[in-house]
Amino acid sequence: MDFAFTDDQRLLQQTLRQFAKEKLLPNYARWDRGEKISREEIREVAKLGVFGLRVPERFGGQMADYVSCGIMAEELSRGDFNYSLFIQLGLIASELLSDYAHPEVQAEWLTRHAAGDAVIGFGLTEPSAGSDAANITTRAVRSGDDYLITGEKASITFAGYADACLVFARTGESGARGISAFLVPLDSPGVTRQVYKTPGERLTQRGSLFFDSVRIPARNRVGDERGGFAQAMVAFDFNRAIIGLACVGAAQQSLEETIDYTKGRHVFGKPLAKFEGVAFQVAEHLTLIEAARLVSYKCLWLKEQGQKHTKEAAMAKWLGPKAAAEAIHACLILHGHYGYSMDLPLEQRWRDVVGLEIGDGTPEIMKGVIAREAYGREFTAYRD
Ligand SMILES: Cc1cc2nc3c(=O)[nH]c(=O)nc-3n(C[C@H](O)[C@H](O)[C@H](O)COP(=O)(O)OP(=O)(O)OC[C@H]3O[C@@H](n4cnc5c(N)ncnc54)[C@H](O)[C@@H]3O)c2cc1C
Repeated sequence: MDFAFTDDQRLLQQTLRQFAKEKLLPNYARWDRGEKISREEIREVAKLGVFGLRVPERFGGQMADYVSCGIMAEELSRGDFNYSLFIQLGLIASELLSDYAHPEVQAEWLTRHAAGDAVIGFGLTEPSAGSDAANITTRAVRSGDDYLITGEKASITFAGYADACLVFARTGESGARGISAFLVPLDSPGVTRQVYKTPGERLTQRGSLFFDSVRIPARNRVGDERGGFAQAMVAFDFNRAIIGLACVGAAQQSLEETIDYTKGRHVFGKPLAKFEGVAFQVAEHLTLIEAARLVSYKCLWLKEQGQKHTKEAAMAKWLGPKAAAEAIHACLILHGHYGYSMDLPLEQRWRDVVGLEIGDGTPEIMKGVIAREAYGREFTAYRD
């Protein structure tokens, strides 16, 4: 059993940790105060390799190993949790387009994506279908060499400025087997957007995308007709470990800030850190965060080896955001009244990680996956 990163991975970790501390952390609050990320800043993010992580080299990407993708999510989140959303959504788009898209669509969109010239969203959720995603009602109807897409996608990360979206729409019977995937350019006639007011992750401009008979060429279908749902589930799988690590990074940073603070703050004649009621809290959260980190990297390592990792992915997605939200909450309280202010990043981090307790599958859905893997499919609640 080998728990070590390779030399290259360690170098990546050190470089990104430094970058997150110096460049991202001082600016983390901007998005919370209403600033919007510019196109130029998105291209700068791309120069770090954030968008091209799993884009083939011939399209300008670097085809990094999966553990390195996790390192990037963990380290950037120490500075600004929002940047991990570029990694999460970018990885899903890269994997789906690389594996299933028409070669012309790949050449155009993967190249633009790797360069940071195109942000690509993921559109599965609808107002009436989230956890129960197989029940979506957005329709794609064949019209000659095109498809016409009609429906609403809700809670879509980057809805405010994405250039394209992977849209899941019904082309056949009810249930999972009637769903296909399409890459829809969001400057197409008939597309409108609505950005939500949200408690956190405001850089991402999450919102709804509306499609009113949006015409796209048939070659923009991603994969086979009616194969879209299964593709989405495969893309979700390892990405859940990326979410786990993004949350771990935010929590680890908060715990380290809390260690520093409690060493320096004196109460009743000695440093806060000398009270076991304080230090034991930090010890407990460090332990749970380490557990979340290990299951997340294990998942990515299994993926790299071509081994099954569904259970570990769901464990990482359940434990990572939960342990992080609890750790950051404790860090906030341990900072006293300073913690409950907008001068420190703790309250923003807490709001940011809570979003990913829900996004990409709620705790109940993750436990359902873990239970299904343990008990067998015949014991799932949604099967008679
Ligand atoms: C920050 C954020 C980013 C997101 N980004 C995207 C995105 O980019 N693209 C996209 O398509 N979607 C996105 N989503 C949507 C997200 O995937 C859904 O919100 C999520 O899957 C849950 O669906 P829902 O909101 O409809 O809740 P529901 O499915 O209505 O669930 C409501 C509650 O019921 C519980 N529940 C549901 N089913 C069961 C069950 N069988 N047993 C027990 N409890 C159950 C859930 O756990 C939850 O607590 C995002 C959401 C958030 C918060």
